[in-house]
Amino acid sequence: MKRVLVTGGAGFIGSHLCERLMARGDEVLCVDNFFTSRRQNIVHLRDNPLFEFMRHDITWPLYVEVDQIYNLACPASPVHYQFDPVQTTKTCVHGAINMLGLAKRLKVRILQSSTSEVYGDPAQHPQTESYWGNVNPIGPRACYDEAKRCAETLFFDYYRQHNMQIRVVRIFNTYGPRMHPNDGRVVSNFIVQALKGEPITLYGTGNQSRSFCYVDDLVTGMIAMMDQDELVGPVNLGNPGEFTILELATLVKELTGSSSEIVYQPLPQDDPVRRRPDISLAKAKLHWEPTIPLRDGLARTVAFFRELLAAG
Ligand code: NAD
Ligand code: UDP
Ligand code: UDP
Repeated sequence: MKRVLVTGGAGFIGSHLCERLMARGDEVLCVDNFFTSRRQNIVHLRDNPLFEFMRHDITWPLYVEVDQIYNLACPASPVHYQFDPVQTTKTCVHGAINMLGLAKRLKVRILQSSTSEVYGDPAQHPQTESYWGNVNPIGPRACYDEAKRCAETLFFDYYRQHNMQIRVVRIFNTYGPRMHPNDGRVVSNFIVQALKGEPITLYGTGNQSRSFCYVDDLVTGMIAMMDQDELVGPVNLGNPGEFTILELATLVKELTGSSSEIVYQPLPQDDPVRRRPDISLAKAKLHWEPTIPLRDGLARTVAFFRELLAAG
C-alpha cells in the first residue's frame, strides 16, 4: 500500500485521480484550498478510511510523510486563472518549489500536471513534446502559460541538480463529470447553456479547434506515467481527435436535445487557433491512448450536469 499525496485533489481531475488510486488500495492524502472546486467533489470519498483531506494552500510549505506526489493544484480554466493572476503564478511557481522541496526531503517521485498551454498558440500542428511553443509572456493567459512553463523548468532543474525522480505530463483539454458549472470552459458552458435553454456562446467564428479527452482516459495515462521507470517526460496526454468549437456546439445541442440558439461573441485575446496532441510518445512508452470517443464522454458529462441542475 502506498501513501499518495494529490494536491488539487478536490478539483475536477484530482477527485477522479483520488478515487482511482483508492480503488486500487492506495492511501490518499488530498490537499486543496477549495479555490476553484466544490466540496461535493469529494464528499463521497470522506468516509473511506483510505482517504484523508487537508485544507492547505501549496504556496506555503507543507510537511507531511508520503510515498508519491501528484501535483495538480492550480486553477485551470481561463476564467478562474485570470480571476487572480498573481495567485495563479504563485500557485504554479511557489507551489512547485514547495512540492519539489517536499519530494526532495522524502526522496519520492513527483508528477507535475503541466498543460498544452505551454505550446501557446502553436505554430506546429499537431504538437509534439519537442516543440518549444509560442507563448505571449505579457498577455492575459501568461499568468498560467508562463507559470506552468516555469514549473516545468523547476522540475527539470531539481531533476538535474538534485537527481530527483520527476514525471511531467502535458495535459490537453480534458472534460467530464465534476467540471465546475461556472468555470467558463467550453464543454461545461455549452452543456449548461443547452440544458437551461439559454443561448450557446460561441467565441469568434467557432472555427478554432481543440482536442477533448475524457477524464477517465486522462487519469489512466497519468497513473501509467507515474508508475513506470523509463520516461521522465514531458509527455503529451490528450485525445488526438480534433473538433472545431462549432462542431462541439452542434454535438452538445444534439446530445441534449436542446433548441438553444448559437450566438457569436468576441474571441478572447490570445485564444489559440488550434490544438491537437501528437501522442506517439505516450503510445510507445506508456502503451496508452484514449478509448472514449467524444460523443460517449459528452453523453456521460451531460448526464452529470442534468443531475446537478436538477438538484439546484
Ligand atoms: P480544477 O480547478 O478543478 O482543480 C484544481 C484544484 O486545485 C482545485 O480543487 C483548487 O481548489 C486547487 N487549488 C488551486 N490553487 C491551490 C493552492 N494554491 N493550493 C491548494 N490547492 C489549490 O482544475 P482541473 O481541471 O482539475 O485541473 C487540475 C490540474 O490539471 C491543474 O494543474 C491544471 O493546470 C491541469 N490541467 C487541466 C486541464 C483540463 O483541461 N482540465 C488541461 C491542462 C492541464
Ligand atoms: N519544503 C516543504 N516541505 C518539505 C521540505 C521543503 O514545503 O518537507 C519547502 C520549503 O519551503 C523549501 C522549499 O520546499 O523552501 C524548497 O526546498 P529545497 O530543499 O529545495 O530548498 P531550501 O529552500 O530548503 O534550501
Ligand atoms: N469558448 C467558446 N465559448 C465558451 C467558452 C469557450 O467558444 O463559452 C471557446 C474558447 O474561445 C476557446 C475554446 O472554446 O477557443 C476552448 O476554451 P476553454 O476555455 O474551454 O479552454 P482553452 O482555451 O484553455 O483551451
